[in-house]
Amino acid sequence: MPLVNMKPLLRDAMDNGYAVAAFNLVDYGTTRAMVEAAESLNAPVICQTSAKTIKYWSHKEIVSWVRTAAEDSAVPVVLHLDHCKDLEMIEECAKAGWTSIMIDASEYPFEENLEMSKRVRDIADRYGVGMEAELGQIMGVEDDMVVAESASVLTDPEDARKFCDALDLAAFACAVGTAHGFYRGEPVVDFDRIEAINKATGTPMALHGGTGLSDETFAKAIARGSAKVNISTNLKHVFVESFVDYHRKNPDDFEPLRVIDAQYKACRDLFAGFIEKFGGKGRAEPFLASLKETA
Ligand SMILES: [Zn+2]
Repeated sequence: MPLVNMKPLLRDAMDNGYAVAAFNLVDYGTTRAMVEAAESLNAPVICQTSAKTIKYWSHKEIVSWVRTAAEDSAVPVVLHLDHCKDLEMIEECAKAGWTSIMIDASEYPFEENLEMSKRVRDIADRYGVGMEAELGQIMGVEDDMVVAESASVLTDPEDARKFCDALDLAAFACAVGTAHGFYRGEPVVDFDRIEAINKATGTPMALHGGTGLSDETFAKAIARGSAKVNISTNLKHVFVESFVDYHRKNPDDFEPLRVIDAQYKACRDLFAGFIEKFGGKGRAEPFLASLKETA
């Protein structure tokens, strides 16, 4: 089926107490693995891209992979642009076929952040795509952006309300104690804050820095309004390790298709595990039925 807009999907997730898994694609194999994992569970999925990945490939290539994988599938697939500061790139993505775009102006003071995000609101409206924006700084490393633990600021629920009221977001990214990258020790996730922000904004929350959180943490965050959970670092490791492991175990096998197939299966299993953990199993059909009802 054609790619879907992220807004009604995350609304459905929030209303029904599950979260849609969002994975950062690397290449066509990982894209297909995400969609196949979702398909096997009758679940929706978000294929997302960092600005870095788009610069490495191109808009055209990435859109063709995600569309090709989604076309042959019966589950809803979103193509989302993750953390982007560049308005030109955001517009290019919306124009090229992304069905959701994110502006990350979280490094700026509130008013400036809101101002930049409003400009992206206009772009999202013009192209009819979903939108994510961020308030408060999530610590860790994302692409080449580094936010030190001491510099990270947890999001204030009142500010969040003002921000979300002005932007009509598909997903709201905010700082609630999670971090990008791997954790050293158990992270302190502020569940009360997640709940307060969700209550104040009524907006599905995007939980960034999903890699390394416990099952219990995921369940508690999702129950409090986290409707999109981002997984990136974990995939990077499985992507590289599965390739290397295959060669270590089969040092004489130089058939590339067997190597990338081992990598494909490892990635697909990782994706399926997260989709199921976030409660996505069986959610594709009811969501699509609800879309038809409102259409
Ligand atoms: Zn993030």
